[in-house]
Amino acid sequence: MDYDKLPDIPEVFFNSETNQPFSNCLVCACNLMEESQPYAIERAIRHYPEMELKSVVFEYALCAKCIAQMENELSADTKMSIMQYFSQNLDFASRPQWKPAADVDEDENADSAEEVLFDVNEWIDTCSVKGVSRSELYEYTLCARCIGGKIIPEVVPYMISGFAQDDLVELFSNQSLGFLDDFTDKHFSGPPELKELFKGRPILV
Ligand SMILES: [Zn+2]
Repeated sequence: MDYDKLPDIPEVFFNSETNQPFSNCLVCACNLMEESQPYAIERAIRHYPEMELKSVVFEYALCAKCIAQMENELSADTKMSIMQYFSQNLDFASRPQWKPAADVDEDENADSAEEVLFDVNEWIDTCSVKGVSRSELYEYTLCARCIGGKIIPEVVPYMISGFAQDDLVELFSNQSLGFLDDFTDKHFSGPPELKELFKGRPILV
C-alpha cells in the first residue's frame, strides 16, 4: 500500500484531549507517528440526540503488536464467536469503497484507474451491523485502522451501535471478560463510573 495515497486521519478519529491524531499506544506507549506498524483507534461515544450533546466514554489507540498480544489473551471460544458474529451480521459487500487515483504507468484500464474519494461519514453514519443511523443512537463506538497520520480504509473505519455491543458482550466467555476487566484496571485511570462502563465491553479492533 502506498502510504502517501492513503487519506489523512479525519478529525472524528482524533484524540479529543489534544484534538490531534493519537500519538502513543495505550499499552506500550510507542510513538505511533514514527512507527511503521499499523494501529487501531477505538472511540466510544455517549450521545444525547435531544440535546445534540456528545461525550467521550473512552478512547485510545493500540499498536498492532499490542493488539496481537491482547488477542492471545482472549479464549479461543470468544475469538471464534466474535468472528462468526461479524461474518453473519456484517455485510462486507456493502461497505463503502475507497480507491486512490492509479499511477499513470498503471493506467491500462480507464475503469480501474478511477479514483474513489474517501468520505469518512459514508463509513460511520450507520451501524455496520444493525444499520441504525448514528444521529439516533445513545451509544456507539468508532473504530479505525491507521498508520502514521493516515487512515487505512478497508472494512474499518466503521461504527458499531450500543445494540451490537450488547450482542458482542454476550459472546465473551467469562475468561475473556476477566481479562478485559484486568486490562481496564491497568490502563484506564479515569473516574470509577467510567471504568464500570468500560468493563465488560469487548474491544472491537
Ligand atoms: Zn503498543
